[in-house]
Amino acid sequence: EEKLKQLNDCMTDHPDFPKPGIVFKNIMPLFSDPERMKLLGDVLEETIREKFPGCTKLVGLESRGFLMGMAVASRLGVGFVPIRKKGKLPGEVVRQEYTLEYGTDVVEIEKASLEATDKIVLIDDLIATGGTMKAAVKLIGSTEATLVGALCLIEIDFLKGKEGIDNFVSLIHI
Ligand code: 5GP
Repeated sequence: EEKLKQLNDCMTDHPDFPKPGIVFKNIMPLFSDPERMKLLGDVLEETIREKFPGCTKLVGLESRGFLMGMAVASRLGVGFVPIRKKGKLPGEVVRQEYTLEYGTDVVEIEKASLEATDKIVLIDDLIATGGTMKAAVKLIGSTEATLVGALCLIEIDFLKGKEGIDNFVSLIHI
């Protein structure tokens, strides 16, 4: 689709960032220009209205998922809630540990931000191995809210990170 091509064309690739062997896809050009930001909002809004019509809250993954979620939540008339790394959120939190290449990490969400009637769509910029998104799926699974699906702007297809994630949608495939 033309809109996705325009979005893809403005993002930049950075070999050996943040580590040797990794080609980092930089999404920030989507936000530095108001026309592109509008285009991104249009594409995300159309996708969520079509694929996840019952969504009541977007839950964004730290930290580029915050930008994605906030680019579209108010257009849809739904709330936005962040999932953060451990120790960043005040009050009562729900916590999920997950495995990294070396060791483990923890993600958290504020308990008071979700209700039992909520239908959650997870949102992030990019899925690679899927480890981050799967941790978020588990985290929402241990709350009272219902997970209806997950959306990433970009998917690195060969890593098959979406396998095992129900109702997963991505828009740009690399
Ligand atoms: P995964 O857990 O699927 O291996 O990695 C996905 C997470 O890492 C996402 O939260 C995403 O923001 C970040 N990430 C990994 N590689 C890239 C990249 O090339 N570009 C961007 N923008 N984010 C990346």
